[in-house]
Amino acid sequence: MTRPGRHFLQIPGPTNVPDRVLRAMDSPTIDHRGPEFARLSREVLESLRPVFQTSRPVIVYPASGTGACEAALINTLSPGDRVLIMETGWFSHIAWRHPAEKLGLAVDYVAGSWRRGASPELLEERLRADTARAVKAVVVVHNETSTGATSRIADLRRAMNSAGHPALLIVDAVSSLGSIDYRHDEWEVDVTVTGSQKGLMLPPGLGFNAISEKAVAASRHARLPKAYWDWEPMLKNNAAGFFPYTPATNLLYALREALSMLHEEGLPNVFARHRRHAEAARAAVRAWGLELVCEDPREYSNSLTAVFTPDGHDADRLRAIILETFDMSLGTGLGQLAGKVFRIGHLGSLNDLMLAGTLCGVEMGLRLAGIPHRPGGIVAALDALTAPEKKLVGA
Ligand SMILES: *Cc1c(COP(=O)(O)O)cnc(C)c1O
Repeated sequence: MTRPGRHFLQIPGPTNVPDRVLRAMDSPTIDHRGPEFARLSREVLESLRPVFQTSRPVIVYPASGTGACEAALINTLSPGDRVLIMETGWFSHIAWRHPAEKLGLAVDYVAGSWRRGASPELLEERLRADTARAVKAVVVVHNETSTGATSRIADLRRAMNSAGHPALLIVDAVSSLGSIDYRHDEWEVDVTVTGSQKGLMLPPGLGFNAISEKAVAASRHARLPKAYWDWEPMLKNNAAGFFPYTPATNLLYALREALSMLHEEGLPNVFARHRRHAEAARAAVRAWGLELVCEDPREYSNSLTAVFTPDGHDADRLRAIILETFDMSLGTGLGQLAGKVFRIGHLGSLNDLMLAGTLCGVEMGLRLAGIPHRPGGIVAALDALTAPEKKLVGA
C-alpha cells in the first residue's frame, strides 16, 4: 500500500537515517585493499574515538550489536570464567546472559528491577563478597532499551574501585552511544559495545567494540575460541587502514557521513537535544496521567521513553492502531513487559517537530484506542520544548 508522506520510525532503533547518510552510501563499492579504502577507514576509525570519548582503538565489525556483544565476551574470557551480569531488563538477558551461558561462561545474573538501572550498592556488595576474585568481568547495559532506565556507569565504576575488584567492566552502550553522554576512558570501561542503527543514525549492520589497554591485555590470555571476532588481526590490519576480511564498505561511507554530522552539531549539543526531547516526552506522559516504566528520575533515559498502558489495555493494540492510522511505528513491550508497555524512540536524527508529531500520533492513538488518559500531553510537551531555560541547557 502506498502511503503519503514519510513513515514515522519512532522505535528505539533502528532510527531514522538522515538523507545525507543515505546519499553517502549511494556510491560505488571500492577495492577494500586499495589506497582509497585505507584513507576512508583511517578517517572513520579516527573520528569514531571522540564519540566513545576514548583515545584508544575502536573495532568495527560487519555485524549487528549482538555480534559485538559476543565479540566482547570471547575476546576477554576463558571457558568457565565467572561473569557478573546486572539484570536491568530484556537486553541484559538476551544480549548478555543468554549468549554468555551458551559460550560456557559461569554466569552470575544479579537480580535487578526492570524499572531501574543497575544498583552500584548491590554491585559493590557482590564484588566485596568475592574474596577469591573469581569474577572476571562485570557486564552492565548502559541504557536498557526495554525499559528506558539508564545505569549510572560512573557510580558503578566507583563501586568496583571501592571494592578494589580487578574485574573487567563491559558496557552495552548500543542505545546510548551518540545520544547520551558516555565516557569510555573517564569511566575506565574495558569494552564498550554498540551498534550502528541507534544513536549513530545508520542502517543496521555494523557492531563496535571500544577497548581499553587492560582489555587488550586480557585478550592475550583469553581462551574462548575465536576466529572471525578476534581483535588481534583486526587491530593489526586497522593500523594500516585495512580489515582482515571484506568490510561493509558502503556502511563505512555512511558512518563517515554520520560522524561528520555528529561532530558538526557538537556532541554536547547532541546530548542536550536528546535531553530536551526526552524531557518533553516525559512531560506529555505525565500530563496524560500514564505511568513511566523508569522509576528513578536520576535514571530516566534520554533516548527512549517506555510507558505503561493502564491495566486491561493492550499496548500492542494501541501500537497497531497508531501504525494503521498514522503510519507510525512505536516500540513493543519486550519480555515480561509484552502487551503492557509501548516505547517511544526519540534518539538519532530527530528535531522538535518530529518529536511533536510523534507525540501527537501517540495522543491521537490513545483517543482512538479508548485508553483512559487526560488530554493535554501535547501542550505539556510544547511547553517543555519552548521553555526558555530548557533551551539553554548546555552539556
Ligand atoms: C538493540 C540493542 C542490542 C542488540 O543489537 P542488535 O543490533 O539488535 O543485535 C543490544 N543491547 C541493547 C541495549 C540494544 O538496545
